[in-house]
Amino acid sequence: MSDSNKNIFPINFIDLKAQQQPIRANIEQALLGVLDHGCYIGGPEVAQLEHELQKFCGVKHAITCANGTDALSLALLAKGIKTGDAVFVPSYTFAASVEVIAYCGATPIFVDVDKHSFNIDVASLEQAILKAKEHNLQPKAIVAVDIFGLPADYNAINILAQKYCLWVLADSAQSFGAEYHNQKVGTLGLITTTSFFPAKPFGCYGDGGCIFTDNDELNEAMRSYKSHGQGDSRNHFIRVGVNSRLDSFQAAVLLEKLKIFPAELTHRQAVADAYREMLSSSIRCPVVPSTSTSSWAQYTIVLPENINRNELAMQLKDKSIPTAVYYDIPTHKQPAYSEFTKFSPSLENTDYLSQHVISLPMDGYLSMEKIKYISDNVNLLVDK
Ligand SMILES: *Cc1c(COP(=O)(O)O)cnc(C)c1O
Repeated sequence: MSDSNKNIFPINFIDLKAQQQPIRANIEQALLGVLDHGCYIGGPEVAQLEHELQKFCGVKHAITCANGTDALSLALLAKGIKTGDAVFVPSYTFAASVEVIAYCGATPIFVDVDKHSFNIDVASLEQAILKAKEHNLQPKAIVAVDIFGLPADYNAINILAQKYCLWVLADSAQSFGAEYHNQKVGTLGLITTTSFFPAKPFGCYGDGGCIFTDNDELNEAMRSYKSHGQGDSRNHFIRVGVNSRLDSFQAAVLLEKLKIFPAELTHRQAVADAYREMLSSSIRCPVVPSTSTSSWAQYTIVLPENINRNELAMQLKDKSIPTAVYYDIPTHKQPAYSEFTKFSPSLENTDYLSQHVISLPMDGYLSMEKIKYISDNVNLLVDK
């Protein structure tokens, strides 16, 4: 290691400490505020956060809940998704996007992704819809996942949604803060969900999630479902609901983090630009269409076919560069979900990507020196 590299270590895959440092005092103040008022559940921070999130996204309703998975479940519950229904979802995602569908008793139908965006491929989506009909399932909804922070192609998806009378649930767990045709994530589906898991672009210090919609009836239904199915008064239950709340401590943390979030998004874009410039041309870097922005949950590259990914990851680890693979086993190849593969069209892009992708360190604080060190080492190993 050369002298000039001395102060770039450690390199973290996501540096949550670097994020906390400049706002540490404010977060402590905010947490003390909760300790003082003692409303640990449903404190003023929760309502304030929902208000700020509505403003941030330009959406009518923001409904906080316990995590991003519950957010998806509450959306499906409110829309009455049930046994016999077909819900379309990319296989190239985290298990949560799929498990919520199966939990309702509905059938998840896997859709392939586009090779370049890693998001739903609309041609594959239409094939999947036709396949569901062949199996006498009722096509009901599309779970569009904004993978790695890039919004799916909602205009193209909406054309098919209209043609086949489907509604769109945007799983934006990874893309909070991103935009599509000048509209913020949170407004792109009939219902949008996100996650505040610490490692997501907008994370708290525990579990948390949120649902966004412009629809008043769905807002009311989802607020009821997340509170045991409550009606207008406290001891009046009109639905079979669940318990899914964001607590006051997490809301307090998120209120502080929201203030610095726009600057973090700008830095994440700068990190992505720097990687793109520095990485070898034999590596396929992610592309953001001119009509979108990404919140860069991950910086995921596609390696040349001759590269042994595990070996590369090990060699990078030797250089103190952490990496991760999202997703080495796509959902349709997981034991819990393989039975649903019989309904899906070809998933060849999903299979290809899962074998050749690797994700590099990414956060709102990564320095240009670190990016250069990472890129130089990746290039050296890939082009050897
Ligand atoms: C993280 C994630 C979720 C689940 O969020 P949790 O808060 O962990 O429950 C759902 N969908 C996708 C695409 C995710 O990345």
